[in-house]
Amino acid sequence: MEKFKDLGIGEPLLKSIKGEKFERPSEIQEKSIPLILAGRDVIAGSATGSGKTLAFASGILQGSERGKGIQALVLTPTRELTEQVAMALTKFSKYMPLEIIAVYGGVGINPQIRGLKTADVVVGTPGRILDHIGRNTIRLGKVKILVLDEADRMFDMGFKEDVERIIRKCPGERQTLLFSATISKDVVRLARSHMKKPLQVSVESYVDPKKLVQTYYDVGDDMKFSLLVHLLKHEDSRLVMVFCNTKRNTDKVAKNLKFSGIDAQAIHGGLPQGKRNNVMKQFHSGKACVLVCTDVAARGLDISGVSHVYNYDIPRESKQYIHRVGRTARAGAEGKAINILSMKDYDNFSNVLRDNDVEITEEAMPVMEKAEMRKPEGRGNKLIFRRGQQHNRRRHR
Ligand code: AMP
Repeated sequence: MEKFKDLGIGEPLLKSIKGEKFERPSEIQEKSIPLILAGRDVIAGSATGSGKTLAFASGILQGSERGKGIQALVLTPTRELTEQVAMALTKFSKYMPLEIIAVYGGVGINPQIRGLKTADVVVGTPGRILDHIGRNTIRLGKVKILVLDEADRMFDMGFKEDVERIIRKCPGERQTLLFSATISKDVVRLARSHMKKPLQVSVESYVDPKKLVQTYYDVGDDMKFSLLVHLLKHEDSRLVMVFCNTKRNTDKVAKNLKFSGIDAQAIHGGLPQGKRNNVMKQFHSGKACVLVCTDVAARGLDISGVSHVYNYDIPRESKQYIHRVGRTARAGAEGKAINILSMKDYDNFSNVLRDNDVEITEEAMPVMEKAEMRKPEGRGNKLIFRRGQQHNRRRHR
């Protein structure tokens, strides 16, 4: 606890941190909290899993008072991240009650309008915040601290203009904190026009390579699904994330895993918000242990206890690989990233190896049953016994 105290964190927040059983500050917390508490504008190069939420929470919580209007605004790219950040802020503010509200699209606007009247801290997605600005149901004139969370992602998702419009609605006299996994040109441009003498801090890496085992299987396209089923049934795992590149594949894989007796749920941007929240609730509570997802839906989600990440499709963008595998081996725990590649993944996999400093070891194919994927017409899945082939182990660097 002493180390958190040394960063300048006050008693009520220290108490919540103690309750969370955090032993020492993470690297991004150590580097950014003293600057944040000194009121500086900060650009932090850090991703989900780095502990960035507590970093900006320290500034928000120590600078806000109950009942003095909206004093802090946090913009995030996705609805899930909004929920997650609002929940984290609520937890951290246990001993300094503040009204914290999550504001995002896809759900009713009226409860948000009521909540905004008395909120002290607002976390939201740019679209819905702008909607409230247009309706005059949000007052940003008291904002002292503005946080742009996952700024690069907000820009990738096309929210650049929206974010700028919102920034212009906030008072000029404010502190701005920008968190981003990558410091892109757009991030730099935004910082130049909207931040005051920002200081930049970054952390080297958010995947602990010592705790993360990365492997791949080279498999025929017709055996890909069978191998996934086999591994899910035989690997000793807790929560599992299976990544696919498209919504269609996500649905198809989740559905067929269920047919194969595996408790899987799909999450992607095409699902209604209520359904997405439900899926996340089930996964958080451990009711569904396998989450099949796209990058967009998974981005920014903080789920602790993920022991395995599977790449059922290898990501098209090589940096996405790091985001995906960063879901496991968090906060000192061990994790495994398993890549299941067939011929159509070779190009993407070569890019992953070329662009990232990762060590991925080939695993021999196990002996397994063939699990047929159901045809869309709904024909039954046959289980055909087939002997696997043994490959020599190779190492890729
Ligand atoms: P974040 O990057 O803010 O999404 O945080 C990732 C996870 O790390 C969350 O589950 C936090 O509760 C946890 N966490 C944050 N700070 C610490 C810390 N200093 N020690 C251990 N866990 C932490």
